[in-house]
Amino acid sequence: LQNAAAVKTSDRSIPLASWRAPGSVKIQGVSKSFGQLKVLDDIRLDIKAGSVTAILGPSGSGKSTLLRTINHLERVDDGFITVDNELVGYRKSGRTLYELKEKDILKRRADIGMVFQSFNLFPHLTVLENIIEAPVSLGQLTRPEAISLARELLARVGLGDKINAYPRQLSGGQQQRVAIARALALRPKVLLFDEPTSALDPELVGEVLDVIKELARSGTTLIIVTHEIGFAREVADTVIFMDGGRVIETGAPEQILNRPRNARTSEFLAKVL
Ligand code: ADP
Ligand code: MG
Repeated sequence: LQNAAAVKTSDRSIPLASWRAPGSVKIQGVSKSFGQLKVLDDIRLDIKAGSVTAILGPSGSGKSTLLRTINHLERVDDGFITVDNELVGYRKSGRTLYELKEKDILKRRADIGMVFQSFNLFPHLTVLENIIEAPVSLGQLTRPEAISLARELLARVGLGDKINAYPRQLSGGQQQRVAIARALALRPKVLLFDEPTSALDPELVGEVLDVIKELARSGTTLIIVTHEIGFAREVADTVIFMDGGRVIETGAPEQILNRPRNARTSEFLAKVL
């Protein structure tokens, strides 16, 4: 993305310098409970700009909640999260409460794209309208700019011919690729994926993973919750294993996947490999 020259429109070009540089993510001492249940317990992660991080862990270990806190869809009880040193999270240090204003939350959230397991496309909108909705309504792009960007993005995810289709007319793999294009339309600094292929028929998984691999090559900061171990091994710079709301271990894919240090990691891998 960073290397593309410009998006052509009828009357002018958007210099793709307006693609924002990939962001770093720092998570410091983040904890979160739902009632009595501690779902995140003192999470600390330092994610470099342009890196690919795969998060593995059993169901209920807090993976989705962690992604949701990064995108400010969940408030944390303690600790904080920054993207490029800008606070996205909520901080409680000692007795000092710090909370972002709603408008700042929206601003921060526009830096962070998210792709969900269940696609979450707007069913009553065409593919094009799904993609241009956020950048236009947030005032990032004019409608013609957003349309030309949507065309570029659809070509990039291999769906240039589906611009006027409705989600129900697409396969799951195609819908997920539209969802990725929609997330990219905000030109995010960080892109989060929550089990992006878990809802897909097996024969459709590859086409979505191929798009994510291409994003990884282009240097976008990606944080991906996945059960696709082979994909994590191939694409991730760092693999994180979570269990019981804690980060159990972090390392290079070959270390975590071939020589895990923790018994819980080995147990989990024995089940999924
Ligand atoms: P994972 O994505 O690793 O499967 P989640 O982050 O979805 O785990 O959930 C972690 C734990 O938090 C689970 O026990 C889940 O039931 C609980 N949980 C998640 N969201 C909520 C919520 N909004 N209210 C209450 N409990 C929740
Ligand atoms: Mg989950």
